[in-house]
Amino acid sequence: MNHTRLLIIGSGPAGYTAGIYAGRANLSPTLLEGFQPGGQLTITTEVENFPGWPDGVDANELMDNMRRQAERFGTKMLPNAATQVDLGIRPFHVTLDDGSEWTADSIIIATGASAKYLGLSDEQKFMGRGVSACATCDGFFYRKKVVAVVGGGDTACEEASYLAGLASKVYLIVRKPFLRASKIMQERVMGNEKIEVLFETNTLGLYGENGVEGAHLVYRKGESDERKYDLPIDGFFLAIGHHPNSELFAPWLQRDENGYIVTEGDTPCTAVPGVYAAGDVADPKYRQAVIAAGSGAKAAMEAEKFLSEK
Ligand code: NDP
Repeated sequence: MNHTRLLIIGSGPAGYTAGIYAGRANLSPTLLEGFQPGGQLTITTEVENFPGWPDGVDANELMDNMRRQAERFGTKMLPNAATQVDLGIRPFHVTLDDGSEWTADSIIIATGASAKYLGLSDEQKFMGRGVSACATCDGFFYRKKVVAVVGGGDTACEEASYLAGLASKVYLIVRKPFLRASKIMQERVMGNEKIEVLFETNTLGLYGENGVEGAHLVYRKGESDERKYDLPIDGFFLAIGHHPNSELFAPWLQRDENGYIVTEGDTPCTAVPGVYAAGDVADPKYRQAVIAAGSGAKAAMEAEKFLSEK
């Protein structure tokens, strides 16, 4: 059995920033980097809105810098994910994916959120063969091809713009008659001649022999002028939001109707003393790297207070 005073679960901006602050407070934290070291940001391209980089910064470089900064102050990184957690005993008990057992006096949950899918059986069928939830990861395979992106938020617009730099044509499939994305992103999409926005359109399924060859779409579903048609495409990208990775903690912590961990006011404190939730796993509203980093700092400060009073 291994023991740590503070276990940080997750390696996005919240987790690494918690590591920086807790490390500087001499807590010698242990940080579980999980299945996606660096978190969601590592599957985007450039980050333009993180303060301190007026010309933007490569997302992987940003996360690597945060990681090194946490390590510099003594945060121990483990390339593992938590598979079982018991917050009902003290010290808390955590099992990792390599079977090792850990106890911790305090825990910061910074497990983030994961991409959502439409729930079509064809998404599973064509996963990795034309279906993707990450344009930056897979866009390269669609050079000079025709792709579709589903969603009307900032992520969808960003992915469509990125793919337009590679593909010959990008369709943006939007279920509403308008885009939800910020004005600047909307303008980028509407001003790009390679992108065609299909408003009021839903996806019914995908077709193809060995990979995606097209999508079955419906325009104005349920209306008198409803129209079903097939759109030939080579790639189908999902950009319809995310769900929080909070299932592991469900028996002990309150979650909202979408699974986000509920914390006290604007603090990262949960109802279990010594357990904190930071970043996107507890943020249904803002979901921004800079805000996740800020909440990671708060969580580490709370953990430090808790451990010093203990
Ligand atoms: P959002 O929740 O903002 O948008 C999700 C989009 O997907 C909406 O248009 C929604 O439609 C659509 N959608 C959801 N479910 C379905 C479905 N079943 N079928 C079809 N369409 C669906 O998520 P994002 O990931 O875009 O953004 C999350 C947050 O991150 C936001 O706050 C955003 O501003 C931020 N962000 C900022 C960036 C930047 O600044 N560079 C880049 C990327 C994200 P509807 O509108 O009808 O609900």
